[in-house]
This record gives sequence, C-alpha cells and structure tokens, in this order.
Amino acid sequence: MRCGRVGLVLAFAALVPSTACNEPETDYLARYELDGLEVFAYDFDRVCRGLLDELEVENRRIRDVIGAQDDRTLPVLLGESIVDERCLQAGNVIGCIKASEDRVVVVASPRALAHELVHAYRWRRTDWRKPPFLEEGIADVVSIGLLKGLSTLSSRTLDLRDAFTIPVDDLTEFLRRDATHFVYWMFQEYGQDATIAMFSDPDPDVEAVLQKHFDADLETLRQRWHDGTEEEIRMSTACDGVPLYELSDEPLVIELDTACDAPGVGGPSLENGVPSSFRTFCVEVAGVVGARLALQSEGGPADLVLRPRLDECVFDPDNPSSEYEKRVLSGDSEDIVLGGCTWIGRIESEVEQASIVRVTITPL
Ligand SMILES: [Zn+2]
Repeated sequence: MRCGRVGLVLAFAALVPSTACNEPETDYLARYELDGLEVFAYDFDRVCRGLLDELEVENRRIRDVIGAQDDRTLPVLLGESIVDERCLQAGNVIGCIKASEDRVVVVASPRALAHELVHAYRWRRTDWRKPPFLEEGIADVVSIGLLKGLSTLSSRTLDLRDAFTIPVDDLTEFLRRDATHFVYWMFQEYGQDATIAMFSDPDPDVEAVLQKHFDADLETLRQRWHDGTEEEIRMSTACDGVPLYELSDEPLVIELDTACDAPGVGGPSLENGVPSSFRTFCVEVAGVVGARLALQSEGGPADLVLRPRLDECVFDPDNPSSEYEKRVLSGDSEDIVLGGCTWIGRIESEVEQASIVRVTITPL
C-alpha cells in the first residue's frame, strides 16, 4: 500500500495534514482483539483487564448513542508515547484520529479514548460532519462514560453563526467549554433522539438542519440556550459499574483486588510518572461527617484519592471541607470531613505491586 498525503489529524487542538503511511501497525508492545476494536498498546506490554472491559462496553454504548452502523473493526493505538509520535501536536494533546480516504485510526491515551471513538465513528460517515464546534461538543458529551465526569462553564453569549465558522485549530479551551455546554443543553432540551437525528442529518447546511430538527433559527436557539441553563453544567457517570458502598455509623471496610488482571482494574497509566494501575469505588455519605480514613495494602505501596462526585456534591461555605479531595497513603490514616453526597475513591498502585488493598472509613 502506498503512503498517501490525504490523511488528516483531528486532535483536541488541531486539524493538520498528515503524511503518515496507512500501513499495518508495528512496534506495539501488546495487541488485543475486542468486539469491534483492535487495540495496539504502546507504553506497556499489557493493558489491565478493567480498561479493556470498559473500552468494550463504552465502544458499544457510543456506537448505540450516535447510531454508528459501520461494522468495520476500528484500530486503536493506545499510549502516551504513540500520541506524541502520531498526533503531531505540541502541548497538551492527549488523543487524535488519523483519517485517510478508507481508514480511520484512533490514537489516544486512556483518558481520551472515548472522545476519539466518537470522532472516529462520525468521521466514517462523511455526510454527517458538522462544524468543529459541534463535533467537539458531541465528542465530549457522548464520551463522559469513560471520562467519568465533566464540569463545564459557559457565558452562553457566543454568536452561534460565528462559532460554526471557527476552524478546529482555533477552538480555544474556552470555546470548547462553550461547545460542550451547548451540545449538552441540546440533549437536555430536545432529547437524545432529536439531537442525534440533527447530528446525523446529511444536509451540509447546518442552520437549515437546526431549523428543521429544533424548529428555531440561530438567534432563537442562542436565546433558549441562554435562558434555559445554568452557567455551569456538571455531569458524571463515575459510579456506573463500580462497587458502591454506603457509610453509616459503623466503620466501613472496603477490600479490593488491585492486580492488573482482576476485574475492574484499569491502566496501566503514566499519569503520575510511574506505571500504575487503578481501581475505582464509590461511597454514599448521607450527611456531613467527620471520619478517619485509613489505607492498608499487601505486596507494595498504594495510595487513595477520594473526590466528591461532580454533579452531586455542593460546596458548603460553612463547611470548607465539603468539597475537596482527600488523599491517604498505604500505612497511613487521615482525619477528614466528608460532605453529604457520593464520593469517588481511586486506589492507585504500581503495576503488579500491591494486590489486596483495604480502605477503612471510621465515623468519628
Ligand atoms: Zn476532539
């Protein structure tokens, strides 16, 4: 197969011509065949079971939501190093798709996987493409399953006609928040079916498509968007499919297997500099409580971060501890205050180091 110059990179921050070859992948450290996906791992010679399981579930969910009908297997190149090499971006890019006439490849770090999957399936349907403002918005909104939570602010004062002409290179962080906010609002206001029907309408005239599906011109839409939503939108699916506990008056003991081949264990990830695997759980806390948080691990060190669930936990000015992350290392304990909402715990340990990890939360 000849190397072409027709490829495109659709990254978080850019749309640039690519000269990369369209040849079968090489130099990867591990390869996995999943339902509809072929995963090539680059940073590590294995991928933990939880990430592969979750990727398969998310892939199915994303295809369902956006109505993807193309059954060709989608290649996924996974890892920070391959993002640096292939996405041709300076700075903060964590994923991109590489597309040529007949092949789309996802290149992503674990965090960006779901977002890029949405781009890839929409890119295969050339007649579905909408302005980058809308494509980035739908990629964020439909991918929150893997992203696990999103908080986005918008002034909602943007002129939509201008927004739809902005090239993907010029979508700043701020404009991307507007994009996500706007598309999320569409899902809320008009429902998933109507919103997806609009996104899947092959008519290239975006104003006409919006008018047809939402019965509103751009100024009316902007006005409804402005009047109908809060400045900040918070969403989360973080506790879907993870162990959920409830904190009562009794000490809560949570024992979890964090070995890479155990169900629910994600990674490896390089997020904190060392190759680590991680496992997530959720704890419902009924009211504001003081508690002692302790962590023990077998086989090696681990650490735990507890974060309030974004869409649920409200900061209480009288209780400054109500919305902060809490951190504890194995062998240690910390006295903390937990606001009354759901907390998400993430245990991290070096790959193949800690196996059984025990979290104890004792109300004080
Ligand atoms: Zn994107």
